[in-house]
Amino acid sequence: MRQTKIIATVGPASNSDAGLDALIAAGTDVVRLNFSHGTHETHGATYARVRAAAARAGRTVAILQDLGGPKIRTGRLQDGKALELAVGDTLTIATGDFVGGPGRVSTNFEGLARGVQRGGTLLLADGTIELRVESTDGSTIIATVTEGGVLGEHKGINAPGVELAAGALTAKDIDDLRFGLALGVDLVALSFVRGAADLRHARQLMTMEGAGDVPLVAKLERPEAIQHLSEILTNCQAVMVARGDLGLEMPLVRVPRVQKDIIRRARLRGIPTIVATQVLESMTKEARPTRAEVSDAANAVGEGVDGIMLAAETATGAHPTRAVQTLDAIIREAELSPPDEASIVVRRLADDHDHVRALCAAAVTLANRGDARAIIAVTQHGSTARQLSALRPRAPILAVTASPQTTRRIALHWGVVPVCLAEGDLAAARGSRSAQPLVALGYLSAGDTAVFININPDLGLPDANYLRIQRL
Ligand code: PGA
Ligand code: MN
Repeated sequence: MRQTKIIATVGPASNSDAGLDALIAAGTDVVRLNFSHGTHETHGATYARVRAAAARAGRTVAILQDLGGPKIRTGRLQDGKALELAVGDTLTIATGDFVGGPGRVSTNFEGLARGVQRGGTLLLADGTIELRVESTDGSTIIATVTEGGVLGEHKGINAPGVELAAGALTAKDIDDLRFGLALGVDLVALSFVRGAADLRHARQLMTMEGAGDVPLVAKLERPEAIQHLSEILTNCQAVMVARGDLGLEMPLVRVPRVQKDIIRRARLRGIPTIVATQVLESMTKEARPTRAEVSDAANAVGEGVDGIMLAAETATGAHPTRAVQTLDAIIREAELSPPDEASIVVRRLADDHDHVRALCAAAVTLANRGDARAIIAVTQHGSTARQLSALRPRAPILAVTASPQTTRRIALHWGVVPVCLAEGDLAAARGSRSAQPLVALGYLSAGDTAVFININPDLGLPDANYLRIQRL
């Protein structure tokens, strides 16, 4: 089995029954709906299509709603015609919602002209175009092109080094979030998180919508988020190294070091990590990835990430299915190597008076040293499976639950194989501590050694907390 998970973004290249069937068959664990694009109508239809495809495949597939966040963009252009910007040209960026043209474009983001300073740098269209700010009056920026290129409509603007006063949730995000939660998304990602306050705000809104327990993924893509990583890690259920914007907001050469640091610190807390952006970028056009892309994805596995995300590769690329197949093959091969020495995280338990974590640690020791084929964790909300995953056992974690929602919420976690059983079968598995239903479903065979763990916060229950190893 593959332990590191695959997140694939759905888009025009894959958004059909056949396209989704193929992405799922190729090994997609989580499908990402990118709310930077599309309407509620299109996302609603995609959501239903993903659920139907997962049901056809009989696979657990989670749906991640990725909120667009306060991304700064340029506005529309006359006749939709892209602008050619040459070095030395002057470009005016004015706040407002007007149609731009040669020499003058609009931006929706009010704080930009107030935030930048003379001499500062602006990066447009994923950094392909660079500008130097000559002046700003608080609503209009006059800049000189220092790196030329072609500027289309609605392209991103990054202002590295400028702290823009913008919460991670825009009015549109709040509206999108309500919509997504009503649909029933399994995970929500928040873009451009600055610190814990953004996450608490989102959590508050989610609770008001009656979805306070949906896991929240913090996308780390501004320098403030790296400064506030500790508080972010205590207020989210996963983090994403969003290298696209991160690589524009800070020197690109710093991103690999920041990625390693984020992964190490998140894993120390047992928070799952996702590495994103340009993972197999060349496959948007070519059928084969570059050597460097393969190494980057394999190295992320070595660093101990939980999931690797594909964006344009599966959303708009020429080879969406092949991109997932390729990533699956890269991960499987990479997992044959022992993890990087530096990535081995030993979670401290010594000062921890908590039978839940102690039992999980003991289960992992028992499984590793007893050469178990699997750890079987009966779980209601997935917390036992999450804790086991954080300890990175060698054997797969069969997370057995009666809740389809729980299976989807833990699909992102490293090494977790979600198994949904009918309530009756689950009771039998729990009561007799038997793996019979799992053998019947083909997860295990007679003769396999398995570790069984069940945890309940209530220490008064006679049969609720157990750990044992048994040959089937
Ligand atoms: P995005 O986030 O694709 O929503 O911009 C990922 C990134 O910035 O890397
Ligand atoms: Mn981004």
